[in-house]
Amino acid sequence: MIKPVLIKSTSGIRGIVGNGLDPILVTRYGAAFGSMLKKGKVVVGRDSRPTGDMIMNAVISGLISVGIDVINVGIVPTPTVEIAVKGLKAAGGICITASHNPSQWNALKFFNKTGEFITPAEYKILNKIFEKQNFFYQPHNKIGKVTCQSEWIDRHIKKTLEVKFTNLRKVRRKKFKVVVDAVNGAGSVALPQMLKKLSAKVIEINCDNSGKFPHEPEPIPKNLKQLQKAVKKYKADIGMACDPDADRLALVDEKGQPIGEELTLTLAVKEVLRKKKGTTVINLSTSKVTEDVARMSGSKVFYSKVGEANVVQMMHAKKALIGGEGNGGVILPSFHAGRDSLIAAALVLSCLANEKKPLSKLVETLPKYYTIKTKAALPNNFIARLIKFEKGASKLLGKTKVDRRDGLRFDFADGWVQVRSSNTEPIFRLIVETNDKKLTSRLTKQVIKFFS
Ligand code: MG
Repeated sequence: MIKPVLIKSTSGIRGIVGNGLDPILVTRYGAAFGSMLKKGKVVVGRDSRPTGDMIMNAVISGLISVGIDVINVGIVPTPTVEIAVKGLKAAGGICITASHNPSQWNALKFFNKTGEFITPAEYKILNKIFEKQNFFYQPHNKIGKVTCQSEWIDRHIKKTLEVKFTNLRKVRRKKFKVVVDAVNGAGSVALPQMLKKLSAKVIEINCDNSGKFPHEPEPIPKNLKQLQKAVKKYKADIGMACDPDADRLALVDEKGQPIGEELTLTLAVKEVLRKKKGTTVINLSTSKVTEDVARMSGSKVFYSKVGEANVVQMMHAKKALIGGEGNGGVILPSFHAGRDSLIAAALVLSCLANEKKPLSKLVETLPKYYTIKTKAALPNNFIARLIKFEKGASKLLGKTKVDRRDGLRFDFADGWVQVRSSNTEPIFRLIVETNDKKLTSRLTKQVIKFFS
């Protein structure tokens, strides 16, 4: 039998459906979340993957069993749930999505009343209630009610277009031709609809909202072949790909080349800082190009641990204007403090319109780094190996500055290396980024060899 897979973290409760994640567990988490909140309503939405319906019914059962009213917003991007929580003054929210994980996975993402990921302290309380099964089950006449609201994608789009950092007039005048690959996920409706409101001519591929992923769903260059072809075929200005819950956005330039998901955040930061001075917060896995661009615009830059909750927490602490995660996750706290592919798309088009250059030319103006991101199965003695690696790091990397907040990150003269275990999968991730292609490649091979 395959070992059941269930990964619990502040990023959510993720597992393989039928082998780790099952409706009984999900109902208990619904009851635990409702018991933690005690009263009020909870917004529940999901991405489009076919297991979503089962998980949604189970989590709603748990919530209403403890007297919580549920607003079911249907198939929506994760950021739409976050916006609905705030808009409805709800006590919390749950989005059912395993984000970029393949279709055998599903997950629960929890949000508190601010529409942001629950804090580590809230997560601890939630798990304590879950483990002890301290559920506030209600009698038959006091269970919660379920209502459906289908308008939250429209509201999300409307709010996105009200954001002051995008130059709508200039964007609309450009009438950009955009190919969208939503991997048949929750961005299938929202992203094309918003782009049309920006007067873009939109060509939709993989936007049927079925949750049947036509390729691996993570929007990284190797999974964007279809989008690349379509951009060339239709002579589009840009290709946009989102992950299944549409909080991340990756771009393909007008020549059909993926520019790497890192540059979505870089361009969004550039655009926001063009309009206003402020602080930038990015995570420790984010390309240095974003830091460079932010600093060139006079911004202070702070690094946080990986994971939306960690980035947002630091954004609040530093009163950040803009930031996010280099995996295509743009966060604009004055709009809402969560990764959002819609605001990312609007900011990128605004940047293109302001710079008056094709995307490939705009990318040429940015500092150039060579980055390799790899992942491998997590060895049992990972922590021990990390300690050993740190001891010998100077031999490989020369003089380094070490950051131990999230795995290990070594900054050295020519770049940086980060090794960390994933929050969402039983793997470890390695990122090597330097100003030299051969050096990046050599270091990647050497570090992977050490850990495997
Ligand atoms: Mg996602």
